[in-house]
Amino acid sequence: MGAARADEQPERQRTERPERPERQERTERPERPGAEQWVPRGAGTGLDDLRRAAEGCRGCELYEDATQVVFSSGSPTARMMLVGEQPGDQEDRQGVPFVGPAGKLLQKALREAEIHPGNVYLTNAVKHFRFAQQGPGKRRIHKTPDLVHMVACAPWLEAELALVDPDVVVCLGSVAAKSLLGKDFKVTKERGVVIERELVHGPMSFVATVHPSAILRRKGADRATDFGAFVADLRVAREAAG
Ligand code: SF4
Repeated sequence: MGAARADEQPERQRTERPERPERQERTERPERPGAEQWVPRGAGTGLDDLRRAAEGCRGCELYEDATQVVFSSGSPTARMMLVGEQPGDQEDRQGVPFVGPAGKLLQKALREAEIHPGNVYLTNAVKHFRFAQQGPGKRRIHKTPDLVHMVACAPWLEAELALVDPDVVVCLGSVAAKSLLGKDFKVTKERGVVIERELVHGPMSFVATVHPSAILRRKGADRATDFGAFVADLRVAREAAG
Protein backbone atom coordinates (compact mmCIF):
# COMPACT_ATOMS: atom_id res chain seq x y z
CA MET A 1 0.00 0.00 0.00
CA GLY A 2 0.90 3.61 0.07
CA ALA A 3 2.97 6.03 -1.92
CA ALA A 4 6.15 4.05 -1.45
CA ARG A 5 4.80 1.25 -3.64
CA ALA A 6 7.14 0.62 -6.56
CA ASP A 7 4.78 -1.17 -8.93
CA GLU A 8 3.86 0.42 -12.24
CA GLN A 9 0.76 2.57 -12.42
CA PRO A 10 -1.27 2.53 -15.65
CA GLU A 11 -1.48 5.74 -17.66
CA ARG A 12 -4.66 7.57 -16.72
CA GLN A 13 -6.81 9.92 -18.67
CA ARG A 14 -7.70 13.16 -16.98
CA THR A 15 -11.24 13.08 -15.65
CA GLU A 16 -13.74 15.89 -15.46
CA ARG A 17 -14.63 16.99 -11.98
CA PRO A 18 -18.01 15.57 -11.07
CA GLU A 19 -20.67 17.74 -9.57
CA ARG A 20 -20.99 17.35 -5.81
CA PRO A 21 -23.77 14.80 -5.38
CA GLU A 22 -26.57 15.09 -2.92
CA ARG A 23 -25.48 13.89 0.49
CA GLN A 24 -26.30 10.22 0.81
CA GLU A 25 -27.60 8.29 3.76
CA ARG A 26 -24.86 6.76 5.88
CA THR A 27 -24.32 3.08 5.33
CA GLU A 28 -22.62 0.55 7.54
CA ARG A 29 -20.15 -0.23 4.77
CA PRO A 30 -19.33 2.94 2.83
CA GLU A 31 -18.01 2.62 -0.70
CA ARG A 32 -14.32 3.38 -1.03
CA PRO A 33 -13.20 3.05 -4.62
CA GLY A 34 -9.97 4.93 -3.84
CA ALA A 35 -8.77 8.18 -5.38
CA GLU A 36 -6.97 6.75 -8.41
CA GLN A 37 -9.71 7.43 -10.95
CA TRP A 38 -9.78 11.13 -9.95
CA VAL A 39 -6.01 11.69 -10.20
CA PRO A 40 -5.03 13.40 -13.46
CA ARG A 41 -2.00 11.79 -15.11
CA GLY A 42 0.10 12.34 -18.14
CA ALA A 43 2.38 14.97 -19.65
CA GLY A 44 1.78 18.53 -18.55
CA THR A 45 -0.09 17.65 -15.36
CA GLY A 46 0.91 20.00 -12.56
CA LEU A 47 0.13 20.50 -8.89
CA ASP A 48 -2.66 22.94 -9.72
CA ASP A 49 -4.29 20.24 -11.85
CA LEU A 50 -4.09 17.84 -8.91
CA ARG A 51 -5.47 20.45 -6.55
CA ARG A 52 -8.47 21.17 -8.77
CA ALA A 53 -9.17 17.51 -9.43
CA ALA A 54 -9.00 16.65 -5.72
CA GLU A 55 -12.03 18.87 -5.12
CA GLY A 56 -14.08 16.27 -6.95
CA CYS A 57 -12.58 13.18 -5.31
CA ARG A 58 -15.08 10.62 -4.08
CA GLY A 59 -12.48 7.96 -3.29
CA CYS A 60 -13.87 7.42 0.18
CA GLU A 61 -16.71 8.75 2.33
CA LEU A 62 -14.70 11.47 4.11
CA TYR A 63 -15.66 14.17 1.58
CA GLU A 64 -19.29 13.88 2.70
CA ASP A 65 -18.98 15.70 6.03
CA ALA A 66 -15.88 17.81 5.44
CA THR A 67 -16.18 21.44 4.37
CA GLN A 68 -13.73 21.05 1.53
CA VAL A 69 -10.67 19.16 0.38
CA VAL A 70 -7.42 20.44 1.88
CA PHE A 71 -4.68 19.69 -0.59
CA SER A 72 -1.28 21.27 0.04
CA SER A 73 0.69 24.46 0.42
CA GLY A 74 4.27 25.55 0.03
CA SER A 75 6.85 25.50 -2.68
CA PRO A 76 6.36 23.09 -5.63
CA THR A 77 10.15 23.02 -6.04
CA ALA A 78 10.87 22.37 -2.35
CA ARG A 79 13.65 19.95 -1.49
CA MET A 80 11.77 18.89 1.64
CA MET A 81 8.21 17.60 1.75
CA LEU A 82 6.40 17.43 5.09
CA VAL A 83 3.49 15.00 5.26
CA GLY A 84 1.00 15.17 8.11
CA GLU A 85 -2.05 13.11 8.97
CA GLN A 86 -5.18 14.91 7.82
CA PRO A 87 -6.60 18.45 7.99
CA GLY A 88 -7.83 19.60 11.38
CA ASP A 89 -10.84 21.74 12.19
CA GLN A 90 -9.25 25.05 11.17
CA GLU A 91 -7.61 23.59 8.09
CA ASP A 92 -10.97 22.18 7.01
CA ARG A 93 -12.59 25.61 7.35
CA GLN A 94 -9.76 27.52 5.62
CA GLY A 95 -8.81 24.93 2.99
CA VAL A 96 -5.10 25.20 3.82
CA PRO A 97 -2.97 22.62 5.68
CA PHE A 98 -1.14 23.39 8.93
CA VAL A 99 -2.83 26.69 9.79
CA GLY A 100 -4.06 25.57 13.23
CA PRO A 101 -2.15 25.28 16.52
CA ALA A 102 -0.13 22.26 15.34
CA GLY A 103 0.84 24.16 12.21
CA LYS A 104 2.07 27.09 14.27
CA LEU A 105 4.18 24.75 16.39
CA LEU A 106 5.56 23.20 13.20
CA GLN A 107 6.58 26.62 11.88
CA LYS A 108 8.39 27.35 15.14
CA ALA A 109 10.20 24.00 14.98
CA LEU A 110 11.22 24.62 11.36
CA ARG A 111 12.74 27.96 12.33
CA GLU A 112 14.66 26.34 15.21
CA ALA A 113 15.92 23.65 12.87
CA GLU A 114 17.01 26.40 10.46
CA ILE A 115 14.70 25.22 7.71
CA HIS A 116 13.18 28.13 5.84
CA PRO A 117 9.38 27.70 5.93
CA GLY A 118 9.28 28.96 2.34
CA ASN A 119 11.43 26.05 1.22
CA VAL A 120 9.11 23.23 2.21
CA TYR A 121 6.05 21.62 0.66
CA LEU A 122 3.27 20.76 3.13
CA THR A 123 0.61 18.14 2.61
CA ASN A 124 -1.34 15.40 4.39
CA ALA A 125 -1.72 11.66 3.90
CA VAL A 126 -5.52 12.06 3.93
CA LYS A 127 -7.02 15.13 2.28
CA HIS A 128 -10.41 15.42 4.00
CA PHE A 129 -11.08 16.06 7.71
CA ARG A 130 -12.39 13.05 9.62
CA PHE A 131 -14.24 13.93 12.78
CA ALA A 132 -17.08 13.02 15.12
CA GLN A 133 -19.57 15.55 16.44
CA GLN A 134 -19.99 15.41 20.21
CA GLY A 135 -21.51 17.32 23.08
CA PRO A 136 -24.35 19.85 23.24
CA GLY A 137 -22.62 22.25 20.85
CA LYS A 138 -21.83 19.37 18.48
CA ARG A 139 -18.13 20.17 18.56
CA ARG A 140 -16.15 18.53 15.79
CA ILE A 141 -13.68 16.16 17.43
CA HIS A 142 -10.75 14.88 15.37
CA LYS A 143 -10.96 11.19 14.50
CA THR A 144 -7.83 9.43 13.28
CA PRO A 145 -8.16 8.10 9.72
CA ASP A 146 -8.29 4.33 9.41
CA LEU A 147 -5.99 2.31 7.20
CA VAL A 148 -8.75 2.18 4.55
CA HIS A 149 -8.74 5.97 4.31
CA MET A 150 -4.94 6.06 3.98
CA VAL A 151 -5.09 3.49 1.19
CA ALA A 152 -7.96 5.29 -0.57
CA CYS A 153 -6.13 8.63 -0.48
CA ALA A 154 -2.62 7.32 -1.31
CA PRO A 155 -2.83 8.07 -5.09
CA TRP A 156 -2.85 11.82 -4.35
CA LEU A 157 0.30 11.54 -2.25
CA GLU A 158 1.97 9.38 -4.90
CA ALA A 159 1.19 12.00 -7.55
CA GLU A 160 2.52 14.81 -5.34
CA LEU A 161 5.74 12.91 -4.66
CA ALA A 162 6.27 12.35 -8.38
CA LEU A 163 5.70 16.03 -9.24
CA VAL A 164 7.58 17.72 -6.38
CA ASP A 165 10.29 15.04 -6.28
CA PRO A 166 11.84 16.29 -3.03
CA ASP A 167 15.20 15.13 -1.67
CA VAL A 168 13.65 14.16 1.64
CA VAL A 169 10.14 13.47 2.93
CA VAL A 170 9.36 14.02 6.61
CA CYS A 171 6.54 11.83 7.92
CA LEU A 172 4.81 13.71 10.72
CA GLY A 173 3.25 11.05 12.90
CA SER A 174 2.03 7.52 12.56
CA VAL A 175 -0.59 7.99 9.82
CA ALA A 176 1.89 9.66 7.45
CA ALA A 177 4.56 7.08 8.28
CA LYS A 178 2.23 4.12 7.72
CA SER A 179 0.95 5.64 4.47
CA LEU A 180 4.46 6.10 3.10
CA LEU A 181 6.58 3.44 4.80
CA GLY A 182 4.13 0.60 5.36
CA LYS A 183 1.36 -0.24 7.79
CA ASP A 184 3.72 -1.91 10.27
CA PHE A 185 6.04 1.07 10.56
CA LYS A 186 6.45 2.35 14.13
CA VAL A 187 7.53 5.96 14.61
CA THR A 188 8.50 5.21 18.22
CA LYS A 189 11.12 2.71 17.02
CA GLU A 190 12.48 4.38 13.88
CA ARG A 191 12.17 8.12 14.30
CA GLY A 192 14.89 10.58 13.42
CA VAL A 193 16.86 8.36 11.05
CA VAL A 194 17.13 8.52 7.27
CA ILE A 195 15.29 5.67 5.57
CA GLU A 196 15.89 5.04 1.88
CA ARG A 197 13.07 3.66 -0.27
CA GLU A 198 12.66 3.03 -3.99
CA LEU A 199 9.58 4.71 -5.47
CA VAL A 200 8.12 4.38 -8.94
CA HIS A 201 10.03 7.44 -10.12
CA GLY A 202 13.30 6.78 -8.27
CA PRO A 203 14.96 6.58 -4.82
CA MET A 204 13.67 8.78 -2.01
CA SER A 205 14.86 9.52 1.54
CA PHE A 206 12.38 9.59 4.42
CA VAL A 207 12.62 10.72 8.04
CA ALA A 208 9.81 9.85 10.43
CA THR A 209 8.99 11.88 13.51
CA VAL A 210 6.00 12.73 15.68
CA HIS A 211 3.08 14.91 14.61
CA PRO A 212 3.28 18.38 16.21
CA SER A 213 -0.21 17.89 17.68
CA ALA A 214 1.26 15.11 19.85
CA ILE A 215 3.66 17.67 21.33
CA LEU A 216 0.79 20.06 22.02
CA ARG A 217 -0.93 17.38 24.11
CA ARG A 218 2.09 17.20 26.46
CA LYS A 219 2.44 19.44 29.48
CA GLY A 220 5.29 21.46 31.01
CA ALA A 221 8.76 20.01 30.84
CA ASP A 222 7.58 17.02 28.80
CA ARG A 223 6.41 19.35 26.07
CA ALA A 224 9.76 21.14 26.01
CA THR A 225 11.62 17.83 25.85
CA ASP A 226 9.44 16.52 23.03
CA PHE A 227 9.75 19.78 21.13
CA GLY A 228 13.55 19.54 21.35
CA ALA A 229 13.47 15.97 20.02
CA PHE A 230 11.16 17.06 17.20
CA VAL A 231 13.58 19.84 16.19
CA ALA A 232 16.45 17.32 16.28
CA ASP A 233 14.53 15.04 13.87
CA LEU A 234 13.92 17.97 11.54
CA ARG A 235 17.63 18.74 11.57
CA VAL A 236 18.31 15.17 10.43
CA ALA A 237 15.91 15.78 7.55
CA ARG A 238 17.60 19.09 6.72
CA GLU A 239 20.96 17.33 6.49
CA ALA A 240 19.44 14.66 4.26
CA ALA A 241 18.07 17.36 1.95
CA GLY A 242 21.64 18.65 1.46
S1 SF4 B 1 -10.04 11.55 1.89
FE1 SF4 B 1 -8.84 11.30 0.01
S2 SF4 B 1 -9.73 9.51 -1.03
FE2 SF4 B 1 -11.20 10.20 0.53
S3 SF4 B 1 -12.57 11.58 -0.65
FE3 SF4 B 1 -10.97 12.83 0.31
S4 SF4 B 1 -9.39 13.07 -1.25
FE4 SF4 B 1 -10.68 11.37 -1.89
